[in-house]
Amino acid sequence: MKSLVPATRSNILKAAEIIKSGGVVSFPTETVYGLGADALNSDAVARIFEIKNRPSFDPLIVHIANINDIKKICHFIPKAAKKLMLYFWPGPLSIVLKKKSVIPDIVTSGLDTVAVRMPNNHIALQLIMKSNTAIAAPSANPFGYLSPTNAAHVSLQLGTKLDLILDGGSTKYGIESTIVSFNHGNPVILRIGSLPIEQIESVIGKVQIMTSSSGQKLQSPGQMARHYSPTTPLKLITSKTKFPSDKSSGLLAFRSPRTSKHFKTIEILSKKGDLREAAANLFGCLHRLERKKLDIIFAEPVPETGLGRAIMDRLRRAAA
Ligand code: AMP
Ligand code: MG
Repeated sequence: MKSLVPATRSNILKAAEIIKSGGVVSFPTETVYGLGADALNSDAVARIFEIKNRPSFDPLIVHIANINDIKKICHFIPKAAKKLMLYFWPGPLSIVLKKKSVIPDIVTSGLDTVAVRMPNNHIALQLIMKSNTAIAAPSANPFGYLSPTNAAHVSLQLGTKLDLILDGGSTKYGIESTIVSFNHGNPVILRIGSLPIEQIESVIGKVQIMTSSSGQKLQSPGQMARHYSPTTPLKLITSKTKFPSDKSSGLLAFRSPRTSKHFKTIEILSKKGDLREAAANLFGCLHRLERKKLDIIFAEPVPETGLGRAIMDRLRRAAA
């Protein structure tokens, strides 16, 4: 595929020129691959929605390369939000604040708030700096589908529709950013992600969690119950699960599986049971299982602490 190029200096410059002229580029971040356009150019952002087949009520995250640029985008920055930025940026944390009018409504789906983050990936940071703007970018996958953690995932899913894909290898974290909103003053977690809640609470104290799995009313239209899904049906294993013998089944195991007899294919998230490694491998394993054209994928639950919460959040949505 011609549009897939290594993320060399000169290709990053080429990508920046594409962004400046209103094009759409896929680039690596430390979480997953993004699908980026100039956040201040509504026509360019509209193309992201078109390419992803993303409903217009699902807002995008705006990526910046310099912490001071937040002032150009957002009105008021509460003390606790500032603290989080200083602690965790660049990093896998998106912060929702009241937006300034430079950010077009299409980016935020008409909300008066915007989600902003500074990614911790030098290719992403270079691209944003050389583009001389902020970059609006959702994950580089068709809406609702498995997230891309390497350039091949992007190329296979969206390759022909993009102006350029910068290949920067596999992403370090492999799960989307954690989203914290300060819209109503106090911090609220809208999406569990690559930055564990425990780390956030160690800096600003107890935070409220309000995701679709917490059973409370959603603040953000983008928090779908079903999301991050492979095309093959996925089931989370419980003590009551029976494995059908007449179906070709795959297993997504946390560490080494207790039994392999029911499964045609097995993918292991982390042999040593390390949750960070498991998170980084999650979408890659699911992409491989999906390509096996199985009837069903069974997924083992992982311990729900630290990154395990983000993994379980994605698995529950994939199974919904
Ligand atoms: P993605 O970039 O595909 O991982 O999705 C971005 C997600 O960020 C959306 O689906 C929303 O859940 C969330 N988000 C973005 N902007 C806002 C906002 N202004 N308020 C609340 N949630 C937001
Ligand atoms: Mg996404």
